[in-house]
Amino acid sequence: MHKRSLTKKICTIGPASWDPTVLSKMYEAGMDVGRINMSFADADEVRRVSKLLRDTSPDIVVLVDLMGHKVRVTGFDEDKLLIDGQRVKLVPAGQPIKDEDTIAVTYKRIAKDVSKGVKILIDDGNLQLTVEKVSKNTVHCIVTEGGVLKRRKTVNIPGVHLHFPSLTPKDKEDIKAAVANKADVIAASFVRDAHDVRMVKREIAKNDPDIKIPVVAKIEDMFGVQNYSEILEEVDGIMVARGDLGVELPAEEIPILQKRFIKEARERGRWVIVATQMLESMREHSRPTRAEVSDVANAVMDYADAVMLSAESSMGKFPVKAVETLNKIAYRVEQDLPADVVGGRTDATQVTDILMSHVPCDIATLDIKGIVMISKTGSSVSSLARHRLNIPIWHVSKDQRLVIQKNMVRGIRGILGSMTSVDHNTIARKVVQKVYKVYGLSKDDKVAVITGSTLATRFRNAIVEVATVGEILGM
Ligand code: PGA
Ligand code: MN
Repeated sequence: MHKRSLTKKICTIGPASWDPTVLSKMYEAGMDVGRINMSFADADEVRRVSKLLRDTSPDIVVLVDLMGHKVRVTGFDEDKLLIDGQRVKLVPAGQPIKDEDTIAVTYKRIAKDVSKGVKILIDDGNLQLTVEKVSKNTVHCIVTEGGVLKRRKTVNIPGVHLHFPSLTPKDKEDIKAAVANKADVIAASFVRDAHDVRMVKREIAKNDPDIKIPVVAKIEDMFGVQNYSEILEEVDGIMVARGDLGVELPAEEIPILQKRFIKEARERGRWVIVATQMLESMREHSRPTRAEVSDVANAVMDYADAVMLSAESSMGKFPVKAVETLNKIAYRVEQDLPADVVGGRTDATQVTDILMSHVPCDIATLDIKGIVMISKTGSSVSSLARHRLNIPIWHVSKDQRLVIQKNMVRGIRGILGSMTSVDHNTIARKVVQKVYKVYGLSKDDKVAVITGSTLATRFRNAIVEVATVGEILGM
């Protein structure tokens, strides 16, 4: 457990990681979050994998990632070779396929929503079609980038507003399963605006009005990019979903968007995940490429909350090695990374936001080793964590789900603690006792204790105290 990076590591769970021994090793190597990708899973798998993760460690965040409206090619079994200049026809699935050159897609309105000149990308953009004309239910295209078309490959139509509901029937089923299994976080794919997010929240509440499940909006197309600010208001977290984003937008825009999204999310006190192809070559190899190492390092330097593995941990040959590699890179970079105070207002009070923005400076001057935060709602914790301190924050709350959920945030370790006692000293002493051994603190190390104000405002504003471990524990 030593040398765990402050940056969180999300691992997609799949056939390569279903084994309890592998999962334990992944946890030891630094996995903080297990992601169930609903593009490849059903309700049954949510139940099975949630249990596997909970059995591995109660600290692991269980994230259910909804499929959203992914369009795919369908209706054929054998691979098709598409040659540049060849003419093909796209039709909505369900219609009879008349010839070899007709390809069905899982989007009913295809012929209504596209027009002459539109580019249609298949299989992450490996194949490209351009629309020549549309007649009734058929889209006539010319192959502009050929290749082998395999079954069930994805279809992206950049810049075209497809008429999808916020949630597909499968998404609704999957939310039901996520709620029933008490998932910690739900991620929604292809979020286009704040309304999409509100529909996810409403669906969660429909299944259980009392459960609190934070929602992550995956930004994966032009609409999500355009409406980023309003989406940020509505969500708990953001995912820079570079896989689809890099197909929907020119790929060279992604590094710039990544930096902008992270900065804005931090200013608003939201968490932000950088995802996709981080260690892609480790699906096959035990070592990453230098470029991948730099990509992970850059996400850490951009101050993301979390970095994510997809196929590397779900289907790759080296799931444990891949987590180890993420952790090693992030940990190393963090040793050289200064805190970075950002402005903007979070959900905490203005007083808390301002007080928290001074903490990074105190830590540096006083050489503080860690911060104990006692916070009921966690809003003050988000207000502090966004400045990216280079020490851990131990967040104590009596709300077990909140404690786990906060493990999504860079630098935060959730600790379950009863807060029946209003006496901060007692709570602080218990927590310091807990972390003292685990984090290898010594008696003379200084820690900061941040609690809600005891004044009239109660837990809404913060007070900060600094003492040595010895002083707090009376040693
Ligand atoms: P996905 O989302 O893996 O569910 O497609 C991430 C991405 O698009 O980058
Ligand atoms: Mn995606």
